[in-house]
Amino acid sequence: MALKNQYLIDLLETVKKRNAGEPEFIQAVTEVFESLQPVVEKRQDLVDAGVFERIVEPERQIMFRVPWVDDNGKTQVNRGFRIQFNSAIGPYKGGIRLHPSVYLGIIKFLGFEQIFKNSLTTLPMGGGKGGSDFDPKGKSDGEIMRFCQSFMTELCRHIGPDCDVPAGDIGTGGREIGYMFGQYKRMRNEFSGVLTGKGLTYGGSLARTEATGYGLCYFTNEMLKANGKSFDGKTVVISGSGNVAIYATEKATQYGAKVVALSDSNGYIHDPDGIELDVVKQIKEVERKRIKEYVNRTSHKNVTYTEGCSGIWTIKCDIALPCATQNEINGESAQALVNNGCFAVAEGANMPSTPEAIEVYLSNGLLYGPAKAANAGGVATSGLEMSQNSMRYSWTFEEVDAKLHDIMKEIFKQCDTAAKEYGLEGNYMAGANIAGFLKVAEAMKAQGC
Ligand code: GLU
Repeated sequence: MALKNQYLIDLLETVKKRNAGEPEFIQAVTEVFESLQPVVEKRQDLVDAGVFERIVEPERQIMFRVPWVDDNGKTQVNRGFRIQFNSAIGPYKGGIRLHPSVYLGIIKFLGFEQIFKNSLTTLPMGGGKGGSDFDPKGKSDGEIMRFCQSFMTELCRHIGPDCDVPAGDIGTGGREIGYMFGQYKRMRNEFSGVLTGKGLTYGGSLARTEATGYGLCYFTNEMLKANGKSFDGKTVVISGSGNVAIYATEKATQYGAKVVALSDSNGYIHDPDGIELDVVKQIKEVERKRIKEYVNRTSHKNVTYTEGCSGIWTIKCDIALPCATQNEINGESAQALVNNGCFAVAEGANMPSTPEAIEVYLSNGLLYGPAKAANAGGVATSGLEMSQNSMRYSWTFEEVDAKLHDIMKEIFKQCDTAAKEYGLEGNYMAGANIAGFLKVAEAMKAQGC
């Protein structure tokens, strides 16, 4: 969908100038603006209130030094970030990404996406994101701990259970959240729900680990159902092999699908007989090894491992669930999916499809579940963790999972309804952007800031 509305074209020019050198952020804003064109035409009140100008500027951006001592006694320095993007509907909420590719533009694009995603969850959470260019790969447990402690020593003065509640993302799992929570507690002398994704013995929620992957499949299932299709008997390709990919594999398999591929940043495995998930869990969750290891451990014959990531999209499948990282599917990969008969793509990762890839999905009539709707189950369950922490209570796995399921159904409904209302039936990307935006925009207009 090209940008035709002059008001948004001019505003996008300003965004580009202000955020030069941050292509991922500009990509995310462009996509949202394209979807919001019919809203600009219908809602002059929101234009008059300056909501569009305000929503693209973070409320607060924090950048800080993170010094830590490695196992050789040498001081290392990384850069830390926290973007408090929008608090119109609740405290800032969003994960912490630890990856060498992290810089301001990545955290800003993620924080921006988080505003709309959190809005769609139906829970009162604003948008934020944090991270560091620290590379956890190959670091010892002690190094991870010292980094996390140093990171939180600075971050702790900017966050709080009613102000900003970080969580995990790429590179930040239960272990890192544990070290960060411990340091926050020491610095502030406060045991609270300041982080989500905590361990179960200290305030974590059951089903949080599974939530993004399960939620992705709940959303996809709704999208398939609404179009007379289902997971049953379908072949699924999933990229990634972290939390999201693992639990998406589990749920898709429970729904009767066969997941035939997984990947990591080095390469991908293809198992035509269906991935043995117990083997993957042992390799990734217990031993923290590379996905390549699967070839030596599985009892299945015919398994192949291929170096490089983009080849995974040439595997024949009915449904593709990208769960690795941003821009992992380009136009060419999307075309390969279409040529091989894939009819649905739903995103477990944040912004895994380039604009060219999205164009290929939409022009070929694929069912497309955009990240901010399809992967919102993770942050939704973080919201449920916050609720449990506030109540000083905990729900059972079944209770949390049932709430997550209801939320994902409601998210699909919002995307579907908004798309229909604005004359874009079946375009769930536009629906997600419009529905997510409208709730935040109304609140911003009401609050005057
Ligand atoms: N990092 C996840 C996301 O992208 C989860 C954030 C959270 O639980 O706060 O939505």
